[in-house]
Amino acid sequence: MRVLVTGGAGFLGSHLCDRLLEERDEVICLDNLFTGRKKNIAHLFDNPYFEFVRHDVIDPFKAEVDQIYNLACPASPPHYQCNPIKTTKTSVMGAINCLGLAKRVKARIFQASTSEVYGDPLEHPQKEEYRGHVNPIGLRACYDEGKRCAETLFFDYHRQNGVEIRIVRIFNTYGPRMLADDGRVVSNFIVQALRGDDITIYGNGEQTRSFCYYTDLIDGFLRLMNQDGITGPVNIGNPGEFSMSELAEIILRLTRSKSKITYQPLPADDPIQRKPDISLAKEKLEWEPKVPLEEGLKETIAYFKSELGL
Ligand code: NAD
Ligand code: UDP
Repeated sequence: MRVLVTGGAGFLGSHLCDRLLEERDEVICLDNLFTGRKKNIAHLFDNPYFEFVRHDVIDPFKAEVDQIYNLACPASPPHYQCNPIKTTKTSVMGAINCLGLAKRVKARIFQASTSEVYGDPLEHPQKEEYRGHVNPIGLRACYDEGKRCAETLFFDYHRQNGVEIRIVRIFNTYGPRMLADDGRVVSNFIVQALRGDDITIYGNGEQTRSFCYYTDLIDGFLRLMNQDGITGPVNIGNPGEFSMSELAEIILRLTRSKSKITYQPLPADDPIQRKPDISLAKEKLEWEPKVPLEEGLKETIAYFKSELGL
């Protein structure tokens, strides 16, 4: 199969390209390198089944492909908030361009949606039926509402034009190839601990997240994409729930760091709790995560040690 991966030079996209090539697919990786890096895919440049195209998804593009994975969108709050209008354009116009292409070439198309569609959730854990609690005018809205609108577009192309869609709602995922200055909590805490800098907990550290290792997530992606008779949305994430204080303690222990914990103001609209209900993925995809947090963190710490030259 020939597969297009938008956002393919990013953290998740580059791992997805690797995995698709292992499955003997031909891969076209499209990315504008906003938060992605050529370094993430440099090892693929000599592979005759891999092609990199530098392009922005807000502009239309053509490719003869059988499947499209749409991952193009900055995922870290500091990155998606630094140019919020561009973030909404990326999600919305990127979805329209990908869906238009899918319709024309009759490709199956996959959307990397997010647990952020649940906003600061009032239901816990979050099931796919929960419609969310998003502030439409807040600092996170460019990302949350952009992703919600993309889901709407996917369903409308499906209903109106019969496009075969798959939507995954990704819960916080981490691992090698995250940027050291990405701004997300796992990379921040690990880099701070390794450098001996202060660990920056935002708020009182009691807010929770559920962290999935990238190998489990990519496995869920392929299962959903290649399953017949299901559109999603399907939650993919690890239901283990940790407060940011607990995460900081684990990372300090695993890195044997003497970094001190400091507290900074909680960013606006920062969700208080988040944990996926993965019953649907278990039932329909026979998927559940296998990598425990500490195991995934050890791999990620080893990666950042080498990235930082330590
Ligand atoms: P990332 O920032 O590493 O990857 C995003 C990629 O998209 C980058 O390579 C970036 O350069 C590219 N990109 C951004 N804007 C683009 C544009 N306009 N045109 C072309 N390319 C563009 O982040 P990631 O963690 O790998 O996230 C990948 C996808 O998964 C994103 O859509 C994100 O919203 C979604 N997601 C990730 C998580 C997570 O925890 N990692 C959680 C929920 C959803
Ligand atoms: N966070 C933190 N310190 C940091 C970075 C993030 O305490 O240096 C907190 C952040 O406020 C949020 C949680 O960690 O409550 C997860 O943040 P992240 O940006 O990784 O993802 P998201 O908020 O999008 O789930």
